[in-house]
Amino acid sequence: MDLRRSLALALALGLSAALACSSTASVSEVGLDLPSDEAAPPADADAGPLAIRGAWIIGHGRSDILIEAGVITAIDPALPVHADEVTVAAAGLWVAPAAIDSHVHLDYVRAPHEMAAGGVAAAVDLGAPERLFDERARAEFAPLTLLAAGPILAATGGYPTQSWGRDGFGRECEDLAAALAAVDELADRGAALIKVALAEGPRLDDATLAALIDRAHARGLRVAAHALGDADARLAGELGVDVLAHTPLEPLTAPTLALWSGRAVISTLDAFGAGEAAVANLRALRDAGATILYGTDFGNSQAAGIDPRELSALTRAGLDGAAILAAMGPAPAEFWGLAGHGRLEVGAPASLLLLRADPQEDPQALAWPRAVLIAGRPLADEGPLAAAGIAVEEP
Ligand SMILES: [Zn+2]
Repeated sequence: MDLRRSLALALALGLSAALACSSTASVSEVGLDLPSDEAAPPADADAGPLAIRGAWIIGHGRSDILIEAGVITAIDPALPVHADEVTVAAAGLWVAPAAIDSHVHLDYVRAPHEMAAGGVAAAVDLGAPERLFDERARAEFAPLTLLAAGPILAATGGYPTQSWGRDGFGRECEDLAAALAAVDELADRGAALIKVALAEGPRLDDATLAALIDRAHARGLRVAAHALGDADARLAGELGVDVLAHTPLEPLTAPTLALWSGRAVISTLDAFGAGEAAVANLRALRDAGATILYGTDFGNSQAAGIDPRELSALTRAGLDGAAILAAMGPAPAEFWGLAGHGRLEVGAPASLLLLRADPQEDPQALAWPRAVLIAGRPLADEGPLAAAGIAVEEP
C-alpha cells in the first residue's frame, strides 16, 4: 500500500507542488472553505448489496455492515444473508469511518483520487484560486467531497499574494468595501467559509477584519485565520474568528488560550515540522476546551491520504486513538456541517476503512488501511475486497 500510494503521489505531484514544498517558510495556509450542505459523492446505483462480515465496527462492536447503492443500510451483529450479496470476510479487521481532512490545497496538488484511496472521504480546501469553485461544480474532485474557501482575503500586498499565493490563491482587498464585496462574491460562488491572513506582512486593519468577519457570519460562513504567532492568534480570537487554520507555532499565552476555548483549531502539525512549541500549543488548546480538527495542509505537505506523520504528532500532543478518531470524524463533520460524514451509521454514505488493528489502540493503523470504500466505491485494497471478487476503481 505504501509503495502504491507513493507511486500515485509521485505521479500526482506537479512542479508547483514541489516548489511549494521546497521551503517550510512558505508553508502556510491557503484560504478556501466549504459549503455546509455539500452532497456526498454519487453512489454506484448498479452495485448489488455488499456485506462486510465479522469485523469490529468502531462505535458498534463486533457486527456486520450491509451496503446498498453506496449507503449503509444495516449494522447488525446477526445480519441476514442476502441472496445476491457480495460478502467481504472481515473477521480480525476493524472498520472506521473514512476521514475528513480540514486543511488541504487541491489546486496545488491535484490528487483527489489518491486522497480518497488513502482514506479521506471529505476535505476542506483552505486556499485556492476561484476557478476551484467551477471545477468542484463539475465534480472534478470526485470521489472526494470538497468544501472550499477560495482565495485567502488579504490586504494589498499581504500574505500570501507576494509569495506562493500570487497566482490567485490570495485576494487583495484595498479597503472595507472591497473586503465586504469579496465575502459576498465568494459566498455567492459557493464558498463554505472565508479565510483571512493575520500574519506575515501587511494585513487588513482591525475594523475591516471585524466587518468582514461579521459579513461572513451573516452569510452563514465560518471564518478561518492564518495566524502563527500568539498576538495574531489572540487578535483572531478577539475579532471573532471561528477556527485557526494551523496550530500556532509561537507559544500561546493564557489569555490567547482562554479566547480559543470553545472554538476550533486545525492541527497541521507535521506541515511545520511538528516542533515542540506547536505540539505543546495543541495540547494546551485542547486542555483549554478548543475543538481539535485533523488537518494536514496537503499540497504543502505531501501524504495523499491519512498522514501517518500527522497522526504521530497528534499522539505527541496527547490525543489518544479515540480523540484522533473524533478529530477526523464527528468533530469536523459537525463543525463543517458535513452530514453523513465521519460516522458509521445507517443512512450514511458507506465511506469506511478496513483496518488491520484497532485504531483506538493503534492510531497509525488509520494510515495503512487494508481497504477503502468511499460512498461504497472500492478505491484501495490489500486483499479483503479482492478475495470477495471486488475490483478496485482506477483513477
Ligand atoms: Zn494551507
